[in-house]
Amino acid sequence: MPWITRGLKDGIVTTRYPKRPDGYDRTWRGSVSVNQSRVDEPPASGDLESVASSCPTEAIRSENGLPRLDRGRCILCGRCVELYSDLFTLGPDFENSVLRRESLVVPQAAESEHALTDLRGELHRRVRALRRSIHVRHVDAGSDGSDEWEIAALTNPIYDIQRLGIFFTATPRHADVLLVTGVGTLGMADPLRRTYEAMPYPKVVIAAGAEAASGGIFARCYGVNDGVGELVPVDVWVPGSPASPFGLLHGLLLAIGLLPRRSASRPPEDEARQ
Ligand code: SF4
Repeated sequence: MPWITRGLKDGIVTTRYPKRPDGYDRTWRGSVSVNQSRVDEPPASGDLESVASSCPTEAIRSENGLPRLDRGRCILCGRCVELYSDLFTLGPDFENSVLRRESLVVPQAAESEHALTDLRGELHRRVRALRRSIHVRHVDAGSDGSDEWEIAALTNPIYDIQRLGIFFTATPRHADVLLVTGVGTLGMADPLRRTYEAMPYPKVVIAAGAEAASGGIFARCYGVNDGVGELVPVDVWVPGSPASPFGLLHGLLLAIGLLPRRSASRPPEDEARQ
């Protein structure tokens, strides 16, 4: 039986995340960041306009003369990094899930810490009863299929999401978490709402990927909503195009309050929160 010898040779391949990082999370495009030194010394307004026009999804804009990048729109094409490498950086960081849509815009504007604390507290109270075993209902509301590949990967031996007590379910009646991908096509608006209504309380909604957050490259096209935020009340936003399995894992753990405190050095809205 070759799989026995192969298993013995490979040893344990399952990631230790979130207990500790491992090499798996360093090998892909995770997020684009704005170079902080250039924020303190912004480009001229004409330059900023050409920077913004380089982005196919209008993820970059100028705000008070400073570049702002909306990760909820970013499809990680890398064009801005190629053209303006001094201003943008493409990195593998995947712990970018947030509790508010506005927090996907980087660098972040000064936030009301009170509002964020209230939001985190409310979510923690709501999911307290879910901590031991979570069932997730996934709804594809008009995705291109890439998000589904990454979600399917969560059950393979590398990510093995069941080790964390997280399981996928086929019925919303058994679901605690609604994981939504896709732009929210007009045809899927009603089925998505009915799925949400069929779930018992407490329930949490995760919008996964740039399409679910903003419509991504399909925003303002015929027959789509620009994301699913207007269809169901989203609690956690996971950026990416598609969101990587680690990004999805981070969003799920954030949603159910299971991220360890090691993320506490991250910005408040990215923390996994107790
Ligand atoms: S990497 Fe993101 S922000 Fe940059 S050009 Fe592509 S979509 Fe726009």
